[in-house]
Amino acid sequence: MIRLLLIFILTSAIAITVSASSQPVATIETADMVVVNGKIYQKNPALAHNTTMAVLNGNIVHIGNASTIKTWIGTSTQVLNAEGLSVYPGFIDTHVHVFEGASEIGADCELDPALTLRQQIPLLQECAEYLNTPSQWLIGYGYQLDALLSGNTPFSPRNVLDELFPANPVIIMEESSHSMWVNSRALQLAGINAASEHPVGGRLMYETGSNTLNGILFDNAGDMVMELAWNAQQRVMQRSYNGLLAGLAALAENGITTAGDGRLYWRRGWYQVWQRALVEEELSARVALRPWIYPELPIAKQIAKLQQMQSTPSNSLLFSNQVKLYVDGVLHFGTAKVDRAYDWSWQNNLPKGLYYIAPAELGQWLKALNNIGYGAHIHAVGDKAISVALDAIGQERKANNKQLFSLTHLEMLAKKDVPKFNAFNVHADFQAGAVFFAEHSWAKDYIGRSRAKKLLPMRDAYNSGANITFSSDWTVNDLNPLIAIANSLRERKKQGLPDFEQALDAATINGAKALGIEHLTGSLDVGKSADFVLLSDDISRLNPRQIEQTDILMTVLAGKIVFEAE
Ligand SMILES: [Zn+2]
Repeated sequence: MIRLLLIFILTSAIAITVSASSQPVATIETADMVVVNGKIYQKNPALAHNTTMAVLNGNIVHIGNASTIKTWIGTSTQVLNAEGLSVYPGFIDTHVHVFEGASEIGADCELDPALTLRQQIPLLQECAEYLNTPSQWLIGYGYQLDALLSGNTPFSPRNVLDELFPANPVIIMEESSHSMWVNSRALQLAGINAASEHPVGGRLMYETGSNTLNGILFDNAGDMVMELAWNAQQRVMQRSYNGLLAGLAALAENGITTAGDGRLYWRRGWYQVWQRALVEEELSARVALRPWIYPELPIAKQIAKLQQMQSTPSNSLLFSNQVKLYVDGVLHFGTAKVDRAYDWSWQNNLPKGLYYIAPAELGQWLKALNNIGYGAHIHAVGDKAISVALDAIGQERKANNKQLFSLTHLEMLAKKDVPKFNAFNVHADFQAGAVFFAEHSWAKDYIGRSRAKKLLPMRDAYNSGANITFSSDWTVNDLNPLIAIANSLRERKKQGLPDFEQALDAATINGAKALGIEHLTGSLDVGKSADFVLLSDDISRLNPRQIEQTDILMTVLAGKIVFEAE
């Protein structure tokens, strides 16, 4: 294990002065921090041998060698000796659920995704121990629908929860967050019964061959109930804050200095919790907050609230100029909007999936958002949804809308739509985690082998000139950005990116472009924020397996150490 030397120079290096005898003395500024003896990663081959970097007021003010750094070192300069190790730009994760990833709320009740309904019962009994009053909501996490419904049992998921929790309302979030498992009391409080219509962007699920609700709610149907449960939690703001701080610590540990927020449910007080982290100087990453668009609420009502949260990127670590909106759901629940019907799906009478926000309304949204300074980070999974989203943005570009747009997930991206990313200046966000690498066999049951094989065509998008970004969608994928870089290289002959430099760009500078902050961060250059990581090895020279195993030893945001390995 390589130990890092952190030396505070307190010797005689006194500020150098430029003086003309009778003139006031002008002091040359020295750095707040310098890195010496490092391998500073810069793309330009002419700069590849730089070993030192100076930081002043959070920004990089000098990159050079052992002799050029000397004048930057003063009595109070913090000197980091990198001992020959590599210094890379801080990573940018363009879609990550910082707020939810390490949430305290729901953490008391964690199920095992591999288990059937019957097998989950002992875990649910443990969850019951955390309930103090008969009206208290229980929030849990971590089932997987196929596994849950696979065991042969005469009981529905709702029956099982009702048996264990006759009085308390219960909601358990599925792994991907696109379905929720609830009991009768939760349904009652949400005003949902067997006669209810499917809500916009959501679906109710029934027991086989009957019109009795089975306790599984898809997409927005589940979100709406979760909102009730969340807002009813005791000490909700403090517990949310604790969860946020834990999420931020996880980012720092993984070398992530900038994050695109997965979604901000502003009707759950999340904006206030983020603001508290800013005020208390607890932000260890720069974050583009993305307020959630509620599909069931009118546009005008939301615009007023969104306007209050809007801010443009500046030196503040928090800004918000993109919303998060879903055009559709997910393939594995049959809620992603597809052009040609599913081969098989959990949804009856919904052969091609659903829209959260219908095409006509999407156009209205983008216009209304442009008027108040917002672009959008758009969830689009099915080929029809991706097509609709790109065309809506294309219309806006024609009308001179200059906001930032990115599409994320891009599982079922049709060939005809690939060139539209470049044409309409839409950033293409991919999760190159476990699913990217798995030949997509998981999707065969839903869309058939030939459509499944073509999922996630990242290289096609790259070849068309699209700006490709990597994201984790944590906790869906591991937070470590080195895994996406490694996977992309493993797949370089297929749908991965052509070489290391492109993969690194997708995890750094391309993300900065997608967030509109490439002038602030994303590479190690004089004038940018001192956002960097110290790695245990030079990943540009390693194979994918070695890249994944490289340790992140230190993370620095704007010249401040936010993580240091033991
Ligand atoms: Zn997400």
